[in-house]
Amino acid sequence: MKVVLKNVTKIFPPRNKAESDFTAVNNFTFTVPDGKLIGLLGPSGCGKSTTLYMICGLQKVSGGQIYFGDDEVTDLSPENRGVGLVFQNYALYPHMTVKQNIMFPLQNLKGADKLSKKEMLERTYQAAKLVQIDELMGRKPSELSGGQQQRVAIARALAKMPSVLLLDEPLSNLDARLRLQTREEIRRIQRETGITTIFVTHDQEEAMSISDMIVVMKAGVIQQTGKPQEVYDDPTNLFVAKFLGTPPINVFNGRVKNDELYIGGKAVMDVPGVADQEVIVGIRPEGFIPTANGPLECDLNSVEVMGRDVSVVSTHADSVNPIIRAIVNADYKIDPSEKTVRYALKPHKVLLFNKTTEVRIPIPPAFDVAVTDTLLKRKNKTEG
Ligand code: ATP
Repeated sequence: MKVVLKNVTKIFPPRNKAESDFTAVNNFTFTVPDGKLIGLLGPSGCGKSTTLYMICGLQKVSGGQIYFGDDEVTDLSPENRGVGLVFQNYALYPHMTVKQNIMFPLQNLKGADKLSKKEMLERTYQAAKLVQIDELMGRKPSELSGGQQQRVAIARALAKMPSVLLLDEPLSNLDARLRLQTREEIRRIQRETGITTIFVTHDQEEAMSISDMIVVMKAGVIQQTGKPQEVYDDPTNLFVAKFLGTPPINVFNGRVKNDELYIGGKAVMDVPGVADQEVIVGIRPEGFIPTANGPLECDLNSVEVMGRDVSVVSTHADSVNPIIRAIVNADYKIDPSEKTVRYALKPHKVLLFNKTTEVRIPIPPAFDVAVTDTLLKRKNKTEG
């Protein structure tokens, strides 16, 4: 079932005279394709949960429409929307067994949806099997690990056979290892059931790893939507570029002059076709090539061994962040006792942004063929 949001807006009224209206979600327009898993992503307070609650009907919209398939559900009550919702605090009933917890919502189905005892048991066991807790049906929540409890919550949502599954930070209460494991589980369950799923998280890595598409939000407004890799490679603005990626993108103050990009007065890369201007330069950690004559010279702080790669920590007067982190292949053998490290740059890992609006400045496609070779040949050209 596809989910369509058209200009969905949520304005919270002021709670007292000193406050004014607060727009938590502003003109949200997006279609979640049938059977896909969408990661709704953004920093705390950007309106992710509010969007999710409007989709399930727990919050009324202030404007816009929501459709499930071709049917408008904007004014339907939550119980009539056929959604399954899993919260961060999975709130299982402590006095009930796993089986009773999963079956509980099925007992409340009314009218045409009412189920016989046999059907309820079938659905309960099917859902439990899917999340692999069918061995634990007799236990109480206090006798389960955090990950198992979370699976019960997911099974409880799945047993209703929802047309849409909504997950609000479902992994936040789990430790790092369990988080990783459970997110893979969610992906598997979603693939197996084919239920259209919206997954809210502030963790970009989590969203990128399991989503078919991501929606990045900031202050109630969609910044960009797309496949995770596409958004990572081709961010629309500095906010999105900074929000995606671990370690984060390195940001420098730079300048374009005569088709060349300068950082700290040194020409570091050709950017033919880009107008002369002050720019913000984003360089992904994997965009640095340690090179004896590389044009970008940084003060070396440390080299952290990561196994196959090393993380090279350095500083530069024009870096916006206190440190620059480059992830390079361990074969480069960087001597940590050196005072400086020099880099050539991988052109497709260097992103330019307007100094004022922070919107991405496209580098004309012809530039893609400007291979590293040219960069390696560049010998310390200084801004004239
Ligand atoms: P988090 O990741 O911290 O859960 P979020 O992106 O899910 O954040 P929301 O919970 O959707 O953010 O909240 C968006 C904004 O709306 C926040 O600034 C929040 O304070 C505000 N907000 C949420 N609910 C209400 C409410 N009932 N009344 C007034 N403001 C609200």
